[in-house]
Amino acid sequence: MKRVGAHVSASGGVENAPLNARKISARAFALFTKNQRQWRAKPLSQESISAFKANLEKVGIAPRYVLPHDSYLINLGHPETEALQKSRDAFLDEMQRCEQLGLQMLNFHPGSHLKKIAEDESLATVADSINWTLRQTRDVTAVIENTAGQGTNLGYRFEHLKAIIEQVEEKERVGVCLDTCHTFTAGYDLRTEAVCETTFREFDRIVGFEYLCGMHLNDSKPDLGSRVDRHESLGKGKLGWSVFRYIMNDDRFEEIPLILETVDDTLWPGEIQQLYALVETG
Ligand SMILES: [Zn+2]
Ligand SMILES: [Zn+2]
Repeated sequence: MKRVGAHVSASGGVENAPLNARKISARAFALFTKNQRQWRAKPLSQESISAFKANLEKVGIAPRYVLPHDSYLINLGHPETEALQKSRDAFLDEMQRCEQLGLQMLNFHPGSHLKKIAEDESLATVADSINWTLRQTRDVTAVIENTAGQGTNLGYRFEHLKAIIEQVEEKERVGVCLDTCHTFTAGYDLRTEAVCETTFREFDRIVGFEYLCGMHLNDSKPDLGSRVDRHESLGKGKLGWSVFRYIMNDDRFEEIPLILETVDDTLWPGEIQQLYALVETG
């Protein structure tokens, strides 16, 4: 079964996220477990944790279909020691919050070299950060998201994802999430079924579908290879519907969270229905 949802609001408490997912008839969802624009957060209260688990049960979404996203401030490839440690501490805190909520994955952008170190060195730092965090946690998989490659962000080539994974000690607890907008603006075409075939064959050859833990389904405002990260509502950007039809009809995307991060949340219920309507039966 395909598990489509969206990155829903957790305002007022994480326990509200499952209820917000139900409102849009989602079978999966993403959330921030803390304010994504601040370093520090109050620990989750026991009440909030219990209510989150109860609501998840109530709406019938299993923990494996929830893909939390970390704070945008975190840079696990930071070239400077002190700033790197600040990011690692914050990332560990986010992993522990996921564990407390009974969740199994944490989605994050790999990091930025800030023009101070080489890409390879920064990628190795990201892998070290993941190893450092996994050693101190048990249940949560670190899910690396591919990026548009805006500024000095790493993760815009499939080879970057591979380089990180190769240096992670515990391979069972590392995975990837592909964002359709990021993939496209990073330079991998997705505008027809034929080019989707080529792009995903490339992904499988370099990284491997066994590492795919989730997808972000977004159309793209900018063009192919622009290296700019600007999402658009489905069918309203440069991608069109082909890639979404491709994903909804390919078994390699079964039973993983397929998450909308499109710009107009009032369209989410409709976008979810449109995606399911792409599934060809018979
Ligand atoms: Zn994304
Ligand atoms: Zn994005």
